[in-house]
Amino acid sequence: MSPEEFLALARDAGALLEGHFLLSSGLHSPRYFQCARLLAHPDVATRVGEALGRQAAGLGVDVAVAPALGGILVAHEVARALRVRALFAERDASGELTLRRGFSIEPNEKAMVLEDVVTTGGSLRETMEVVRAHGGTVIATGALVDRGKEPARFDDLPFFSLTRLDVPVYDPSACPLCQSGSTAVKPGSRPKKQRSA
Ligand SMILES: [Zn+2]
Repeated sequence: MSPEEFLALARDAGALLEGHFLLSSGLHSPRYFQCARLLAHPDVATRVGEALGRQAAGLGVDVAVAPALGGILVAHEVARALRVRALFAERDASGELTLRRGFSIEPNEKAMVLEDVVTTGGSLRETMEVVRAHGGTVIATGALVDRGKEPARFDDLPFFSLTRLDVPVYDPSACPLCQSGSTAVKPGSRPKKQRSA
């Protein structure tokens, strides 16, 4: 699946919006990506998971592992493609990522750690540590979308994604979209109707 094909699926699903958005951080952006809206379509989720999983075929992955919540469906679909099991780590009361629900990783099992979207990669990195703490070996990493300023890289491991996505953000005082006269809207809200004269 090419990056263009992936982005077309995202646009069709309403997961990738273009315009002038007010983000929850207070910053403005011409793009908004909400991966959950893409994965809301099970057939699409399977397709993108297969495309991502195919890139890691042949590495000998035994288990796909993701941080909750965003990565769960991605790990599940990649695991379907690779015919391995899918686990997720979740935060306990102290905020630490941990395997619960009786999930286990056998010593020396080879794991692929996955996210939906990687920006700084913090949760993915933490999940790698969870795998290692259980005696597993992380052999690959991946995300549907790499949103980082620089291409994502985790240790010296292979990293797979379906696209890189540049999402510029602006302080409202320096936003070129504001300067051109448009008004930022919250993603998902309808643009205000122009009142006819
Ligand atoms: Zn703006």
